[in-house]
Amino acid sequence: MDFDVIVIGSGPGGYVAAIRAAQLGKKVAIIEKYDVLGGTCLNVGCIPSKTLLDSSEHYHNAAYHFAEHGIKINTPKVDLKTMIGRKNDVVTKMNNGVEFLMKKNKIKVFNGFGSFVDKNTVKIAKNDGSEEQIKGTNIIIATGSKPMILPFMNYDGKRIITSTEALNLSEIPKNLLVIGAGVIGAELGSVYARLGSKVTFIEFAGGMIPTMDATLGKELQKVLKKQHGAEFNFNTKVTNISNTGKEVEVTAENSKGETVTFSGDYCLVSIGRRAYTDNLNLDAVGITPNKRGMIEVNDHTLETSVPGIYAIGDIIRGAMLAHKAEEEGVLVAETIVGQKPHIHYNLIPGVVYTWPEVASVGATEEELKASGRAYKKGQFPYKALGRAVASGDTDGLVKVLADKETDEVLGVHIIGARAADMIAEGVTAMEFRASAEDLGRISHAHPTYMEAVKEAALAATDNRSIHS
Ligand SMILES: Cc1cc2nc3c(=O)[nH]c(=O)nc-3n(C[C@H](O)[C@H](O)[C@H](O)COP(=O)(O)OP(=O)(O)OC[C@H]3O[C@@H](n4cnc5c(N)ncnc54)[C@H](O)[C@@H]3O)c2cc1C
Repeated sequence: MDFDVIVIGSGPGGYVAAIRAAQLGKKVAIIEKYDVLGGTCLNVGCIPSKTLLDSSEHYHNAAYHFAEHGIKINTPKVDLKTMIGRKNDVVTKMNNGVEFLMKKNKIKVFNGFGSFVDKNTVKIAKNDGSEEQIKGTNIIIATGSKPMILPFMNYDGKRIITSTEALNLSEIPKNLLVIGAGVIGAELGSVYARLGSKVTFIEFAGGMIPTMDATLGKELQKVLKKQHGAEFNFNTKVTNISNTGKEVEVTAENSKGETVTFSGDYCLVSIGRRAYTDNLNLDAVGITPNKRGMIEVNDHTLETSVPGIYAIGDIIRGAMLAHKAEEEGVLVAETIVGQKPHIHYNLIPGVVYTWPEVASVGATEEELKASGRAYKKGQFPYKALGRAVASGDTDGLVKVLADKETDEVLGVHIIGARAADMIAEGVTAMEFRASAEDLGRISHAHPTYMEAVKEAALAATDNRSIHS
């Protein structure tokens, strides 16, 4: 064999699997169809979206919040070209970082499209037009996902766009229609709302970020309406989208069964992502994706139905998140060398990088109710927090859910400044099966946002929050 491990796809699942396998002494190759490494997350996902979220947040603060802090500046203007250029520079820096890590770990990189010849052989159609076949004892499929778009949505990449184009617009939309108020729609809708777009969300479900605890979606909706005048249409099913030249028209059916129309100059379709296994020639090895296009794996080893072939990240079940893909990359590399790693899927945190940020881990209140588990709830509002009042970021709350009898923390849900970082305390507490009282008795520096977690935990323990 040429390699111990061949990884197809260089996203956070693939490149992390490659590094961990190399650390464990394996001879590793990675195949990436694009010229740059890092996958969706680094090129058209997590990193560019967070870069634009940060830039637009700076603008919004300068335009609307500096004055209340006693800072007077001339009316700031957005230079979108520079903003997008900076985003591209950040992405390039990160691409180079992954390339450096491949070299450092002596991982052989092939730029080209990988497809199966047999269970140990992968053909690489290289970007320079040549072809090569390589052999590996183990193969890890990490080919990720692409934006989902339905035929009647008439995607054209110009005015009817997905997240990929939304990260590269050359003008700020005047009226941005966002189909889908999930994580990606909420984040990219926020970017343009902060830059001045009028944003209208059209969502099939009954609320924003519908997979998270309902309190968070309600609160986020309230804040986005207050901050930016965003509009929301829930229980609304889009039936057609058309580009009429300079306008986009969306036709939908509302909850009463009536036909409603919306118009804007851009329409962002953010209704989810589909697993990407196109042209991998899975037939050659006898793997058939399931109805949702995903590859089925053994829950403990992430091995497919074919021994020696593994699948990780967005192409398998579970949350489509970079850090979930990374954990799976590590798990497979360690499994290949005979270790017995484990992923606690219930403790993969979910984050929405709006402002305020939203972050969640463990069971939602709706899930606990549905399962019939007896639970206690503690909530603490940001407006009662010294640190939040000092900075002026008083929107939001922390909710801690704990088992009614044992007090074990079952879920932590946060909306508010710094929630994305704060959720790590909830994850740590739950990994160590802490009780709400454990969390409430830990000393938290004052004044910090983290005190809201302590206070919510005290409220959950025995309704004994000190500051509310
Ligand atoms: C706008 C946006 C924002 C996001 N923000 C976040 C966030 O903040 N946090 C978070 O955790 N997640 C975020 N995500 C999700 C995250 O990007 C994905 O969950 C993650 O990238 C999945 O990693 P992966 O390794 O499974 O696949 P991917 O990152 O999709 O990588 C797959 C790679 O495989 C390559 N490939 C595919 N087929 C072949 C082939 N046959 N041969 C060779 N190469 C191939 C692709 O070109 C790609 O580079 C975001 C996604 C989007 C779209």
